[in-house]
Amino acid sequence: MMNYHVLTLFPEMIEQGLHTSILGRAMETGALTLETVNIRDYADNRHHKVDDYPYGGGAGMVMQAEPVYRACLSVQERIGQRTGRRARVIYVTPQGSVFCQKTARELAREEDLIFLCGHYEGIDERVLEEVVTDYVSVGDYVLTGGELAAMVMIDAVSRLVPGVLNNEESAQFESFEDGLLEYPQYSRPKNWRGKQVPPVLLSGDHLRVEAWRREQSLLRTRKRRPDLYEAYERERNTQEKPGTSGKRKIGAVVFEWSACAGGTDSGEGEPKAAPYLEEILKLSGELGLWRGLAGDCPAGGKDGFLQILDKKGLFERILKEDTGERELGGNFYKQLLEEVHLPGKKVLAFVSSPEGIQKAREAGMRVVWLSPQGGPLEKSQICFRQIADFLEGMALLRNL
Ligand code: SAM
Repeated sequence: MMNYHVLTLFPEMIEQGLHTSILGRAMETGALTLETVNIRDYADNRHHKVDDYPYGGGAGMVMQAEPVYRACLSVQERIGQRTGRRARVIYVTPQGSVFCQKTARELAREEDLIFLCGHYEGIDERVLEEVVTDYVSVGDYVLTGGELAAMVMIDAVSRLVPGVLNNEESAQFESFEDGLLEYPQYSRPKNWRGKQVPPVLLSGDHLRVEAWRREQSLLRTRKRRPDLYEAYERERNTQEKPGTSGKRKIGAVVFEWSACAGGTDSGEGEPKAAPYLEEILKLSGELGLWRGLAGDCPAGGKDGFLQILDKKGLFERILKEDTGERELGGNFYKQLLEEVHLPGKKVLAFVSSPEGIQKAREAGMRVVWLSPQGGPLEKSQICFRQIADFLEGMALLRNL
């Protein structure tokens, strides 16, 4: 349960804003209570005036210390009588630390919270020094008053108070819960104006759905909030298993040409890049893995997506037949291994042909079989792992 007390010059704004929808329902059930205190009621003049000119000159008016002090004191006294404690007083101000999910979680553990909303040019500093415990901002911009800021914070904190959200509303994973943004969401219909729901979400395979969501969450965070993504990666690296000293088990990844083409290399027309090929190459680079391409790349590949990936520098080495670097019948995988100076077990080979499996195994590499249709393997083809797409490959890389 949480009891909010909002000190404001505009109580009706808070009352109107917070009594609807989920918070309104939580106030009816008693999971939340809301008390608004009009600072004007604590003015000691006939006109209930609470502001005056700033000492030293300058534009605007300043809220005076005494009415704010008295309003705050009366609330603290009532809380004290009920709980025997003083509540935290949050002054919402652009000069505070920026509010985030972590702050919301921390505040949700309290039983009472007092929010102090400023207006005009702000509040006399002396009363702030006297009563405020936390200075919190909603972001680096200036609002006309603190009411909207207090409502934003109350809304975010309330969602974390037990009993406010019902089971359907309380999400298992939400943006920021683990430092990442949430994955994209879809609902009916399956086909909306020609746009399909990602098939994996209709597969009924919970593990694959989870892997897909995790990956989307990582991709989205990296694209939209690189700052969050970097912090997440830093955190993750410091949590590497003891004894590994931050070193991964593998040092290089090798992609068979046909795996890169995701099975679209029918020999006719321009083959297409497999879904998430660029993403897995970028991720490999970020993880510090050497990246090579091996295999019988047809001439078309030279002009198509492979060339684009090459230009972006996503492979460190492309070894293919039409470069004339291979003796027919030779083993690309062994050649790449010699170039990268790593033992085979430190190299992960993504392949999608039986020949690829065989050659990569001969080179001693760990073989990951890309099989979009998920076909069963023969005994002679048993691999380190079988994946349906590079999305799963990315999850695999992150966990090695
Ligand atoms: N003169 C103040 C300054 O430059 O820091 C700004 C005063 S602002 C116009 C009036 C009130 O709006 C503030 O006292 C504060 O309560 C609230 N406010 C404005 N921007 C805010 C923000 N980004 N976060 C939280 N409260 C804010």
